[in-house]
Amino acid sequence: MTLSTVGDLQKRSYMLIFYTCMTMQGVEHMRISLRREVDESYNIVFGENLLPRIAQDLKDTQLGERYAIVTDSNVRELYAESLENKLKDAGLAATTFSFEAGEPNKTMENCMKVMGEMSRLGYGRDIVILALGGGVVGDMAGFMAAIFNRGIPYIQIPTTVLAQADSSIGGKTAVDTEHGKNLVGAFKQPEKVYIDISMLSTLSSRDYVSGLAETIKHGIIQDEEFFRYLHENTSLMPDRSPDFLLHIAKNNCRIKGNVVEIDPHEKGFRRILNYGHTVGHAIEKISVDKYKRKENNDYLSHGEAIAIGMMVAGTIANDLGYFSKEELAKQEQLLIATGLPTKIPSIISNEEVIEVASRDKKDRNGQTRYVLPSALGKMCKFDGVYATYVDNEVVEYALQQTR
Ligand code: NAD
Repeated sequence: MTLSTVGDLQKRSYMLIFYTCMTMQGVEHMRISLRREVDESYNIVFGENLLPRIAQDLKDTQLGERYAIVTDSNVRELYAESLENKLKDAGLAATTFSFEAGEPNKTMENCMKVMGEMSRLGYGRDIVILALGGGVVGDMAGFMAAIFNRGIPYIQIPTTVLAQADSSIGGKTAVDTEHGKNLVGAFKQPEKVYIDISMLSTLSSRDYVSGLAETIKHGIIQDEEFFRYLHENTSLMPDRSPDFLLHIAKNNCRIKGNVVEIDPHEKGFRRILNYGHTVGHAIEKISVDKYKRKENNDYLSHGEAIAIGMMVAGTIANDLGYFSKEELAKQEQLLIATGLPTKIPSIISNEEVIEVASRDKKDRNGQTRYVLPSALGKMCKFDGVYATYVDNEVVEYALQQTR
């Protein structure tokens, strides 16, 4: 094509735009067409002692030039050095970045510190983040992958039961703000997820048990048979046997994966994953805030808060006639047998819960939305929506029954 032809073509398209503008009767109008098809599918690898395998896979796939292992202070001590060494042994450039462990540190400030350090080291678009840790690390590292240099690939290497069951799948990433949990974030799917159950051996028993809350949630929202399996096998839980851990990991990923495949951006069906989260997030936030203000020397873990939140939501569902007393009792039995709390701590008042929940979930006329079960393995659908507004008196009554 000669230069003059390029010029002609440009002239023709300018004339077309000019003509379009003219026909809009004074309103100028131009369209940028960005329709595209996206395939964000990824594989989940299950197994034991996967670090050497991860290094080999990364060498084979050459996803990036350099690898940033993002982790927290606890996991750094336990696994980051080993992963970094395996990558280096495979001839890959890797550096570890960490922040203080725990929900109070799931903040934008900590993301900015890590990303600032990456920039200082000259990291650009050719890097890959390896999110090595629990749900806090996964959410923050995924969020950094969504925004660092306008987006880079990341891989999830979840190291808690909760992260292997839930947060590493589905691409929801976020940080907390003073106004609520996960209020700033992005959807960003990982390139791959490695579920290495051998890493669960170093979890404290409290963190191990906490993670089982989302596993129980999966049974209640989608799979009665999985719920029954958990109910009948609580004695297997404390041993952390590879068979048991692999069984629950695969079922968790299957259930969450199915939901996410249907509704990746939480337009409707994916809401069922929020069972227990309206009150759960509120009491988690209240308890973390009280801890930060030194009004309490500990805070509820995410899983503990969700266990209590499921009891409140299950009680609301029962009070409204959707969920039977027997099923609510089975849910409570399973949570208790697992070692999870089912009662709201006395330092948290009903008024605080209602206030924070309505702020977090953007209430309508003083009512907040709840995801409710209709039976074990099934969720209520209200006019095509998997959540419904509930009167504060009903919520208050359920909160009172959960004490
Ligand atoms: P966490 O990440 O704080 O981990 C719990 C504790 O375990 C931390 O102290 C951590 O340092 C430690 N730890 C992690 N791995 C360890 C190991 N192998 N051995 C010893 N200690 C280890 O908490 P969590 O329960 O994993 O995750 C909770 C977070 O996940 C919350 O912020 C919640 O909002 C988020 N979440 C996100 C999604 C999602 O879809 N993105 C879903 C559910 C929960």
